[in-house]
Amino acid sequence: MKIIHLSTEFAPIAKAGGLGDVATGLCRELTRMGHEAIAIIPKYEFITESSREETHFSCLGHANVMRGANIEGCQVKLLEAHHPKGFFQREHIYGYPDDVPRFLYFTRACLEYLKAKGETIDVLHLHDWPVAIGALLAKEILHLPVKKVILTLHNAAYQGLAGVRDLDAIGLHGAEYLRKDRLQDDNPDAPHSINLLKGGIVYADAVNTVSPSYAKEILEPQFSRHLSETLNRYKGKISGILNGLDPALWDPMNDRYLPKAYGAGQSIEEILAAKQSAKELLQKKFSLAPSKLPWIGAITRIVHQKNPRLLESGLKYSLQHGCNFLLLGSSPDPDIQEHFNRLKAIYRHNEQALLYFAYDEALARQIYAALDFLFIPSVYEPCGLTQLIGMRYGTLPIVHATGGLKDTVFDYEDALMPRQKRNGILFQNADAADADAAIRRAISLFRNYPKNYQELISRVMQLKFDWKQPARAYLDLYSKGSRV
Ligand code: ADP
Repeated sequence: MKIIHLSTEFAPIAKAGGLGDVATGLCRELTRMGHEAIAIIPKYEFITESSREETHFSCLGHANVMRGANIEGCQVKLLEAHHPKGFFQREHIYGYPDDVPRFLYFTRACLEYLKAKGETIDVLHLHDWPVAIGALLAKEILHLPVKKVILTLHNAAYQGLAGVRDLDAIGLHGAEYLRKDRLQDDNPDAPHSINLLKGGIVYADAVNTVSPSYAKEILEPQFSRHLSETLNRYKGKISGILNGLDPALWDPMNDRYLPKAYGAGQSIEEILAAKQSAKELLQKKFSLAPSKLPWIGAITRIVHQKNPRLLESGLKYSLQHGCNFLLLGSSPDPDIQEHFNRLKAIYRHNEQALLYFAYDEALARQIYAALDFLFIPSVYEPCGLTQLIGMRYGTLPIVHATGGLKDTVFDYEDALMPRQKRNGILFQNADAADADAAIRRAISLFRNYPKNYQELISRVMQLKFDWKQPARAYLDLYSKGSRV
């Protein structure tokens, strides 16, 4: 099959979160299976990987260059837009007041490029709100030779609210789409708002989320900010496909940032010794004290979804009970960041705590290896990758039972679950009492039942969360019926 992915992220060259990992993992697996999978992403200013010029073309009167590169074994095309507003001459992927026009332009330009090429495409696979307009453009405006348009919702809370004029700016008659059955936002208080994600849901042939549980949850209003009505209307075309994790990209046996390699094939003593070296590296780097109790932590964007309140209470509870706690993350929300800056100041002399606010791939990997437990109290979680990465690195997840977290983490004491599947600690309510109780169980398992704890580590490191099964599920979705 010829499959074109439109995405705003592609790990490791352009990553802000899980979407980057997923785009790369899925493309790699589809390529390995013999399909022609091509990802098109913007050529952001910070992308320095070598690429070759392939085509010059114009879109809405502006010049563009499409460049080709091979990233992690995948065919990636980088759209270099010579737009007067310097849409991609930016330091970051998201977070600008003109994000909507930036990504609308990106999507239109990609489709113009595909149209000019004129090749038949089996699947146009769109990822999240920034490129969701691609479904409408491909089908109704440019009439691309595409057999099927798929939209994946990596997070239904980010919807891309636009105005009619934003659509006009990419050559649509915006006002025509301000209708309840088209792109008008479902929020009755915002009747003039265009909802780009909604447009993708309405016009795509199939829509999927990144876990089965989240596919059900988004039908409830509290999970999908005003879109539940639309999602319920189209629920016949919505399914859930659990994300995979690329075992080669997340492999403690082959991770250049770790002081000592380790892997599932080794004895528990060797694994623990390698994790101990990662702890020592961080102790030295950040003047942390050793601890006889577990190292607990989180690697996360600090936003409402990730439950900042419980990240804070978990940090406090862990420190009060003698554990080390490491938090790597940062927040695009200045109020939340300010609050965590204050916390950092409070704990600056505490040798059991590390609060580090940056996006840092190397440090993330060292922390995954050093931790004993990864704390993930998310309010909601479409899939979540950190629990899967943690397990690969022999770090047990402590998670709130929601979305993809409850599809991948099964409590070590859940008698209804086959022992082989149990792999972490779950708590049912996203409140401090439940989260503290879960951390208490983690500490007790670590301190009082070392054999059980070690057996769990060996088990989780052997679990397979690769892309084989998810890629097969996507191929099923791609080939189920077709448009032309
Ligand atoms: P989301 O996509 O909602 O942010 P996921 O759990 O799906 O959450 O994916 C998060 C990805 O981003 C993981 O690969 C994680 O390691 C990475 N990540 C999150 N915060 C940081 C950070 N501060 N530094 C480095 N990597 C990070």
